[in-house]
Amino acid sequence: MSVYNSLDSITEELHKCMKCGNCMAVCPIYKETRQEVGVARGKISLVEYLLSGEIEMTERLADRFSLCTTCMACNTNCPCGVRFDKIILAARAEAVRKKGLHPVKKIAFTALKMQRMFDFGMKTGSLFQGVALKHVPHKSDRIARMRFDIGIGTDKVFPMLASKTLRSEFPEVVKVKNPKMRVAFFTGCMINYFYTDIGKSVVEVLKENDIEVVIPKGQGCCGIPASVNGDVASASALAKRNLRAFEKLGADALVVACSSGGTAWKHVFGELLENDPEFKALADKWAGKSYDISEFLIHKVPFKKQGLGRVDRKVTYHDPCHLNRGQGINKEPREILKSIPGVTLIEMKEPGRCCGMAGSFSLVHPDLSVQISDRKTADIELTHTDTVATGCPACRLQLKSGVENAGIEEEVLHTIQILAESYRAGKKN
Ligand code: SF4
Ligand code: SF4
Repeated sequence: MSVYNSLDSITEELHKCMKCGNCMAVCPIYKETRQEVGVARGKISLVEYLLSGEIEMTERLADRFSLCTTCMACNTNCPCGVRFDKIILAARAEAVRKKGLHPVKKIAFTALKMQRMFDFGMKTGSLFQGVALKHVPHKSDRIARMRFDIGIGTDKVFPMLASKTLRSEFPEVVKVKNPKMRVAFFTGCMINYFYTDIGKSVVEVLKENDIEVVIPKGQGCCGIPASVNGDVASASALAKRNLRAFEKLGADALVVACSSGGTAWKHVFGELLENDPEFKALADKWAGKSYDISEFLIHKVPFKKQGLGRVDRKVTYHDPCHLNRGQGINKEPREILKSIPGVTLIEMKEPGRCCGMAGSFSLVHPDLSVQISDRKTADIELTHTDTVATGCPACRLQLKSGVENAGIEEEVLHTIQILAESYRAGKKN
């Protein structure tokens, strides 16, 4: 039974919890709030009361369930193997079934489903973003802060919308001479609209490795913002659209450079579409050939080492929660970084600790998100590096905001950008 369809689906997970409190030691929310409701154990008790009928779903209770970055640190520190990620997703879906979706989220997720309108909105937004955003001069990034406080303060640093979306910059099929294989690229929203530099690096590196790249125009949001907020109907519609778009063009494998997108293709689509045999079969098929870009370049088609040029960077690596704990990928990006001539990798303290971004969590709980981010920024500062690499555009946003506001001169890049930089340096030489 899917966690998205019924609260009963998680009864077994709830029974596993012996209320030991081990999850407290690793929970970023509990570290800041010191409240039982912040930690997995507290929320598990609330779900148990809900299932036994002792309490009812209220907006206040739904709000309690929003207090989680879904970082999965509690999963890995739990001696009983409780999958709290399943519990929180089921609780949020139940909250939406009983109390409905917040109107702002309803508008946002509806817009995500209307791809053409969303594209038009983002394009128009890129022309007029100066009205709401104040550009922050920076040597390598196009970043800005909000001019007005819309409830999240004006300190947060955001990437500016790209003038052209990534998908409009490439044909649907990017050809190479004598291709080794045909790989589909799921761009995700942040890479398509904001961080097109990451997407261009993905295409550049794949081409460098003789891989034909397919970038279906019909793809859209992965639906994770909807599924983690309990909007199962929107998430399912988005999953189906993506499956249709990729199935139409076909490929030997699918790559993503975003931890949410990877989680969606590998785990979420299948669970969302459990009751639809046709789409469930498609979701399972694509799940079996979906790879994070670093995983692909290490395990599926080992990337060419000849041709790599020197890149003088002192790099520390931040593990995105949904890549590290969600997909078990943490060695691969490090292996790539260590192969690049000139790169020195210096580990920060607790590289796997959540950065506090967690999508809409940073908008709903902006102060808490910044408090969690501040700990990460302090750890980065101690490494005395000049670059933070990570494997997710959302983490890149949060990490950049943290270092910028702390006055630390640190570039924040996706690992694939540093690899692309090395291939470029190799060509120059
Ligand atoms: S660590 Fe696991 S068993 Fe212990 S309280 Fe937390 S969720 Fe329950
Ligand atoms: S998923 Fe992360 S934030 Fe949520 S309860 Fe577990 S440790 Fe805390």
